[in-house]
Amino acid sequence: MSTKTNGLIGLTMLTAAVLVGLYGIFQYSVNAAGIYLVGSIAVFLIFVYAFCAKCPVRDNCTHVLQGMLTHCMPGRTTGPYSPGDLLGLLLFFGFVALFPQYWLIRNLMLMAVFWILFLGNLVITHFGCCRGCGNIYCMLRYE
Ligand code: SF4
Repeated sequence: MSTKTNGLIGLTMLTAAVLVGLYGIFQYSVNAAGIYLVGSIAVFLIFVYAFCAKCPVRDNCTHVLQGMLTHCMPGRTTGPYSPGDLLGLLLFFGFVALFPQYWLIRNLMLMAVFWILFLGNLVITHFGCCRGCGNIYCMLRYE
């Protein structure tokens, strides 16, 4: 499979994880589900600007969507990531992963599906995209 195919599968799994989280929250709180949906979109855009907008291969992005979105944002100079950039990355994965757990704990089957999708994205991205990735500033890439 091509790197982009792996990237798109990973992105689809991450999106599915958010939808599972949304479903799990919605059963108990419409407001909290709304916060999770809007919050996930907001931190995703922060991640794309903080991390992907500085990526040297954003025009040939392995996940496709992030690279496309960088063209809708102010340009950034490619180079090493600052602590602030990395905070944007952590904010995204942290919010998406941790926010729904308060509600998912009440449905262990749903929680299991959530973590399989979320961690599955990280695994397929690591083994399917990060090897030899052109983003030489990313700490996840390897040869
Ligand atoms: S290759 Fe990775 S870091 Fe670069 S734009 Fe795509 S998702 Fe972002």
